[in-house]
Amino acid sequence: MAIDLHVHSNASDGAKTPRGLVAEAARMGLLAISITDHDTVAGQAAGQAAGVEFGVQVIPGIEISADIRQAEAHILGYYIDYASDELQALTHRLIQGRVRRGRQMFDLLRDHAIKLDWDEVIKGASPEGFIGRGHLFRLMIAKGYVPEDKSREMFLKYFAKDGLAYVEHFYITPAEAIRAIRQAGGVPVLAHPGRMNDDGAIYGLVKEGIMGIEVFYPSHTPQQEAHYLAMARQLGLIATGGTDYHGHVGDRGVSMGGCSPPEEVLGQLWEAATKVRAGKPRQPSAH
Ligand code: AMP
Ligand code: MN
Ligand code: MN
Ligand code: MN
Repeated sequence: MAIDLHVHSNASDGAKTPRGLVAEAARMGLLAISITDHDTVAGQAAGQAAGVEFGVQVIPGIEISADIRQAEAHILGYYIDYASDELQALTHRLIQGRVRRGRQMFDLLRDHAIKLDWDEVIKGASPEGFIGRGHLFRLMIAKGYVPEDKSREMFLKYFAKDGLAYVEHFYITPAEAIRAIRQAGGVPVLAHPGRMNDDGAIYGLVKEGIMGIEVFYPSHTPQQEAHYLAMARQLGLIATGGTDYHGHVGDRGVSMGGCSPPEEVLGQLWEAATKVRAGKPRQPSAH
């Protein structure tokens, strides 16, 4: 049976509620999913309840955004204790940082003649106040700033790392994200390494305590998949996978479960979480 360890709900920048995602997973016959919202655990309790309701295994998760060198490092966390005070406090701080960052990107857009209304940005944010590039971009589309056939090009022009309105995720580093996930009893995993495309940076993150890498990912080429699978084996990392499903109408991308890792990854993640909790995490290998 297929599993999907990377999907987003409307607690961050996905279109669907956590319950809606789990219902969809059940319809599609998936064994397990993890709702890995960016920088928030606000959807986790609802995801757990829906897992019981629909008979789908729902693994507590998160995806923390940080920046590294010329790229971004997104750190997934699995089997986190999402109710822990520390994680609640951290995610609260991250959301506050995102509102400040959102305002900075909003100001940069205005400098480049894209005049949005801040109240509308806030209204379009998730119920918990999460603001991401996707929210700003969707408002730009709604206001007619983005020609239909230029969507990807326009996103990159404004919001790629070297884009006109890009602001870094300045409020947390990858190392802090890894530490926070482990402190919450979770297993830190590097998301979509192919998008970072920097093996040296991966070795650095392994030293910081990363325990897995997301080998199976829709935009990875077969060559990248083979490369990261070999790297996972060599470094003793868990090879995870997922679709990064956001559920918006018009999202290209694969459907939920369309990029599944082997089922045994569930047991590997659980075992790793048990080790983290026992205070005996896998030793990061020497590189
Ligand atoms: P942020 O979390 O604010 O750094 O924004 C990153 C998010 O922007 C990603 O997780 C996607 O949801 C969204 N995103 C990335 N690329 C695109 C794109 N080409 N078009 C629309 N949204 C995108
Ligand atoms: Mn997103
Ligand atoms: Mn990501
Ligand atoms: Mn994601």
